[in-house]
Amino acid sequence: VSAAVRIGLDVGGTKIAGIALDADGVALGNMRIPTGWGGTAVIDGILHAVSALQAQLPAGRSVISIGVGIPGLVDAEHGRVLHAVNLGVEELDVATRVHETTGIPSQVENDVKAAALGAAALRGDTRPMAYLNLGTGVTAGIVIDGRIWRGARGTAGEVGHLVVDPLGRVCGCGQRGCIETLCGGGALARAWGRGGDLPVKDILDAADAGDATASALRLDLQRGAAAAVRALVLAADVETVVIGGGLSALADRIGPGIRATLQEEAAASPFLRSLRLDERIEMLPADSPVAATGAALLGSASAGTDVRDKEIVTHG
Ligand SMILES: [Zn+2]
Repeated sequence: VSAAVRIGLDVGGTKIAGIALDADGVALGNMRIPTGWGGTAVIDGILHAVSALQAQLPAGRSVISIGVGIPGLVDAEHGRVLHAVNLGVEELDVATRVHETTGIPSQVENDVKAAALGAAALRGDTRPMAYLNLGTGVTAGIVIDGRIWRGARGTAGEVGHLVVDPLGRVCGCGQRGCIETLCGGGALARAWGRGGDLPVKDILDAADAGDATASALRLDLQRGAAAAVRALVLAADVETVVIGGGLSALADRIGPGIRATLQEEAAASPFLRSLRLDERIEMLPADSPVAATGAALLGSASAGTDVRDKEIVTHG
């Protein structure tokens, strides 16, 4: 039995969720704390979470890696995050600062890419898969052979900004009719325009009650998510698209509609029908710890992100 433990942290706009995994992927500890605002507070929160997780470990266990999933533009190679606007961070050397304080090898990854890695690991399926994050924005992570597939410049999976309606609503990226304008929580809230803490839930409730605007937006959500699934399968031929993110709290209410839309859109196309897209999506249960789990795997050889482990494999 290995005594090695890997810590994974999911740093979100409101909370830091942490998990400690043993070599078999069994959780030995978990915790969550509110996220502070700004670089210093984010680092303090990460270090606090690491200490709290270490305190939960049985005697004789030691932490061999710390992985951090964080929103924003992440330079994984240099362990740096840029433009994490939800955290008040413009630039932060996360991995270096965590490593300097703890003495433990540390890595950082974009939170959606980390979640994709975690979702693939938790499913235990080695076939190519994608994790579609329906949150305020829409983006996806692609995992092939258990590793995050970034593409040449790190853009792989950015399906949220694929235009599906050139006459549609203006997107934050400057284009019109991006997938994100149809099924992003932020775009839906703006189009709904009635405020509230849970605008997408309000839209679904109003649509159920027969409101025409809400019904149209619900259809947009379904069509946008279906377009993202179609793009991921056509471009990368992933076997499964796992749908998660903030909107997955409403999985029971949006999943059937996304499936039905995929079926309707395939009705006239023998080609699309043959892809069986409706059978290839899975709704992630709310609060599934995919991002923290994926972050914990960042330092492992199976994720292909640890230089020393890779050398051992090469020489073996
Ligand atoms: Zn866009």
